[in-house]
Amino acid sequence: MNYTKQEFCPACGTRWWDKPIPKEYRENYSPPYWYSRVIALYDRDDDATFGYKCPDCDTFFERK
Ligand SMILES: [Zn+2]
Repeated sequence: MNYTKQEFCPACGTRWWDKPIPKEYRENYSPPYWYSRVIALYDRDDDATFGYKCPDCDTFFERK
């Protein structure tokens, strides 16, 4: 699951979506067009995102 597409944190309920992405930049993104506050955790060895972290409650979410 891509947690940047999730509006609210399942753990603390804070809203991750910050601001809507302006129309002129949307071709580089997929819907819904919102900037997310969630923190993506990146593994350099695997060259992939392995999880996400809530900026407010620090809960870790595994990317499945
Ligand atoms: Zn949270």
